[in-house]
Amino acid sequence: MKKPESIKLAGVLGNPISHSLSPHLHGFWINKYSVNGYYIPLLVNRTEIGKSLDALKTLGFRGANVTIPFKEEVIKYIDYISETDAKIGAVNTLSINIKGEITGLNTDVYGFLKNLEKSIPQWEKFVDNIVVIGAGGASRAVVSALKHKKIESKKIVNRSAQRANFIKDQIDENLEIISWSQLDEVLENCDLLINTTPLGMNGQPPLNIRVDLMNKGSIVYDLVYTPLETNLIKSAKENNLQTVSGLGMLIFQAIKGFEEWFGKKPQADEATSLFLKRILQ
Ligand code: NAP
Repeated sequence: MKKPESIKLAGVLGNPISHSLSPHLHGFWINKYSVNGYYIPLLVNRTEIGKSLDALKTLGFRGANVTIPFKEEVIKYIDYISETDAKIGAVNTLSINIKGEITGLNTDVYGFLKNLEKSIPQWEKFVDNIVVIGAGGASRAVVSALKHKKIESKKIVNRSAQRANFIKDQIDENLEIISWSQLDEVLENCDLLINTTPLGMNGQPPLNIRVDLMNKGSIVYDLVYTPLETNLIKSAKENNLQTVSGLGMLIFQAIKGFEEWFGKKPQADEATSLFLKRILQ
């Protein structure tokens, strides 16, 4: 008798977790590619990420995504990580091999850049000056993604100077740290503005930035995708700027994990995006 194929398991570890779109996204691809598997949202006690990883190994999970607040702490518990991802100091994708060894990856770097390239293929031709708002985990991935691009100036502004300094020291020494009071002046010469803070997200205060000071045709990229159209994106559109939403980044960052766990490379196509947009509406 033919041995039945084993059921492939993966999930997302976080706290809170019910808001996560990842189970919808991976569930959509599991159906689309007829995978014999499940992707499960897993609420993890804040002090028990290590124990949770042991449980995943015991239960035969092939891996997991990691989200707030574990992306940094989880590094303590993994066996393999690339030098670049170790410098970023955060991983969002775990792969568990048959020996129970865990490899951690940061796929936000790829997701961020691929989404920008797909949304505005010509971006590198006219972007000389970039401003990044925020200096948390997502910002570290963004700065790392832009590090080797030929860009005249890259600036970062954050509430706490300490975290911005960390990014400059660890990831890109060419980064210039600016204060909020310098922002308006800097925006006049900014071709690409990137919001990596949760400001503008449902339940958070809006991010109030004078995008009207930016040149026509410049790009505003908001990593926040709930709501689909943030206030920042709305005002960028009103000022005839180009916009990039974080939803595409979410989709692109998920490709590598799905391929690792379920053995098929999913397409980040229009159908995937429409499916998620319907959930968010
Ligand atoms: P994080 O590590 O907690 O960092 C948050 C950043 O936002 C920090 O720089 C923090 O400043 C700043 N911030 C928070 N509240 C603020 C406020 N009221 N005023 C000013 N600054 C504030 O979070 P993260 O992991 O980087 O995630 C940030 C956002 O990116 C979240 O909304 C997340 O959903 C989104 N994200 C999206 C994707 C995607 O695929 N589209 C991927 C990753 C993350 P301090 O350093 O001063 O605290």
